[in-house]
Amino acid sequence: MNNKIVVIGCGNVGMSYAYALLNQGSRVDELVLIDKNKEKAEGEAMDLNHTLAYLPIKVDIKAGDYSDCKDATIVVIAAGVPQKEGETRLDLIKNNSVVFKEVVTSVVESGFDGIFLIATNPLDVMTFLTWKYSKFKANRIIGSGTTLDTARLQYIIGDKVSVNPKDVNAYVIGEHGDSEFVPWSSATIAQQNINKFLSDDDMEKIAVDVKNAAYEIINRKGATYYGIGCALVKITNAILDNEESIFTVSNYSPDNKIFLGTPVVIGNDGVKQRIYIELNEEETEKMHKCIDVITTAINSIEEQD
Ligand code: NAD
Repeated sequence: MNNKIVVIGCGNVGMSYAYALLNQGSRVDELVLIDKNKEKAEGEAMDLNHTLAYLPIKVDIKAGDYSDCKDATIVVIAAGVPQKEGETRLDLIKNNSVVFKEVVTSVVESGFDGIFLIATNPLDVMTFLTWKYSKFKANRIIGSGTTLDTARLQYIIGDKVSVNPKDVNAYVIGEHGDSEFVPWSSATIAQQNINKFLSDDDMEKIAVDVKNAAYEIINRKGATYYGIGCALVKITNAILDNEESIFTVSNYSPDNKIFLGTPVVIGNDGVKQRIYIELNEEETEKMHKCIDVITTAINSIEEQD
């Protein structure tokens, strides 16, 4: 099977993803770059083609247009504006919802029949809009959700207790935004409850540091992109290789009729199975808060529509 990936939005996030995809030797045959700034997409394709002599894989890379989405396996959307210093992700909603109406409609008009992978913020809202505008089945719409936040959490815990982040079984779930939270009650390392490694104060501080990580990076370098680039590659590989791996992507919650980050099994047809984490009372309250924030944000756009 020919694996074709189309990236829409060739800015920091889109190109960090594309570069990581090539370097990690993902099973990609074709990579197409689309941006409203055509010259930028062309320049990026030229630059990436100059990596081919030194890559482990052979990939057909070009700048393209929406007709290229027709036979794509995955369309990754990272188009739209990013946060500026002092802005929250929700501040981007007005601009990026307009971008998504145009982008998703154009992708669907091409005859695309694959899986959407969304990175643009506010993430859970843009993932919902992709579902709404595409009318695709919800399992084929995946937002990066709290995968990046989870990677940040696993890194910070791993660093503190001197364990590889991959061996930290802890997630960030809920909104990819300020209401996200860590369900500490079920977090483990080597099957031991996390409270054997961390004090309550440690956990509180770590959760705040994870939540503020994007702000801290944006204050220093203006944008964040390497972490999300790698998270998107791992999700892409799980789809292409039918891995049935677990990620806290933004996925459809039938109970709440919104998309939000919770652990799901990802394989060749997208979201294969949702996994329910048992939450204690405090965590359940935090989850309700996330649901409220995302629902209110979605309603604010639907009023404009
Ligand atoms: P950027 O400004 O570097 O790139 C955005 C690109 O989108 C630009 O090249 C722009 O020309 C293009 N674009 C804008 N409107 C378009 C349209 N209608 N059609 C096609 N292309 C269009 O921004 P960035 O830093 O790459 O961030 C992109 C998005 O990713 C932002 O919303 C940002 O907040 C988000 N982001 C998400 C995560 C995550 O965890 N999901 C992490 C970091 C950033």
